Amino acid sequence: MLEKVILKKKRIDDYAPIIGQEKVANLKEAAKPIQGLRVLHVNATAHGGGVAELLNSTIPLLNDLGLQAEWGLLCKEEPFFEVTKNFHNALQGKYYDLTPLAEKIYLKRNRLCAKMLENDYDLIVIHDPQPAALRHFHGRGNAKWIWRCHIDTSRPNMDIWNFIKPFIEEYDAMVFTMKEFVPRDIKTPCLYTIAPAIDPFTSKNIDLDVAVCKTIVAEFGINLRRPLLLQVSRFDPWKDPLGVLEVYRQVKEKVDDAQLAYIGSMADDDPEGWHIYNQVKDRVKGDSDIFLYTNLSGVHAFEVNCFQRVADVVIQKSIREGFGLVVSEALWKEAAVVAGNVGGIPLQINDGVNGLLAQNNEEFVDKVLYFLTNIKKSHEMGKRGHEYVREHFLVPRLVQEEIKLYRDLVHSSVV
Ligand code: UDP
Repeated sequence: MLEKVILKKKRIDDYAPIIGQEKVANLKEAAKPIQGLRVLHVNATAHGGGVAELLNSTIPLLNDLGLQAEWGLLCKEEPFFEVTKNFHNALQGKYYDLTPLAEKIYLKRNRLCAKMLENDYDLIVIHDPQPAALRHFHGRGNAKWIWRCHIDTSRPNMDIWNFIKPFIEEYDAMVFTMKEFVPRDIKTPCLYTIAPAIDPFTSKNIDLDVAVCKTIVAEFGINLRRPLLLQVSRFDPWKDPLGVLEVYRQVKEKVDDAQLAYIGSMADDDPEGWHIYNQVKDRVKGDSDIFLYTNLSGVHAFEVNCFQRVADVVIQKSIREGFGLVVSEALWKEAAVVAGNVGGIPLQINDGVNGLLAQNNEEFVDKVLYFLTNIKKSHEMGKRGHEYVREHFLVPRLVQEEIKLYRDLVHSSVV
């Protein structure tokens, strides 16, 4: 049996004060015809990264709405995650030399995990490339299968794409975050685009008293009388942590008391993290105004919440980005956000309205300085950011779209 994640309890009614009673009622109504549906979600890790964050909230809500939803994990093994991180990077366009050994490691793990998958689900949702070949090795069984892609596959490395494509074309439906991510040559009976969302009731996002946040952040050595820039992201090349340091350095030439906090958790399925962390640490070179934290230095979801609420500017310097939950998280906290104009980020930020988008280091520096010197604008945009997230990127909307997909699929004649 696949390892199952122990689920939290969540109640859809709790969201009514935030999204309104009508939306909650609509969601309950939509779920009625598929109550009892047995759904299994499978991904690579229960900790670290956006997918784990999403599943932690959506699966308990599906259960509260009367479905029987479970969360299974791919059985872990070090060389496998090294291979799949390379696949992940290559699917986002990085050069990669796909070797027979890498193919063998990938297929062996998927074959083994497919044997551990029970046969009594109506729907199986497979997230991202790591478990993508489960459908192939398991066979359809009695279930409908969905492949949910969370990354930007608009310009994939063709070797890896041609390797993965036959496996995902066996699915009954595919879900991408945006239509721009859908590779042109893909064939699927059902194609959906659904954007992710954040949960206002996790310790990462729950409303907190700013005085409490200040106390917590100050305990980590930050001087809150001085400007604070923040990026929260895995240590990953696509999040451009070295670029963040560069932007900070240029900002500091103009604002000499600026500080930078970089918070980067280590995900189980991301062996690249420590390597990049060490690169970043080397570049910091004794600058005592740069603070690097990981989940191992005591910065977990609650602390991330505090940092996002007190930072003067939140940066998200991604150069490729599937969605970037961190952007919605920061907007929800009314933060002034400057983020890369890539992937799913412009879905969340209307430039100049609820945050600022930047194309390159120079623009990042200018826009960070803009926020540091225009406090009124930063508050105005922050408030609009909160409302924009309320309208578009809270988890009940995501659950609503998933339920529609399940209903369409369960009632469709795809076999
Ligand atoms: N995150 C965290 N601690 C960290 C770094 C990231 O809790 O040190 C969380 C972050 O708040 C967000 C998720 O990990 O909820 C990252 O999701 P996102 O979509 O931004 O990026 P991904 O890591 O999935 O590429």
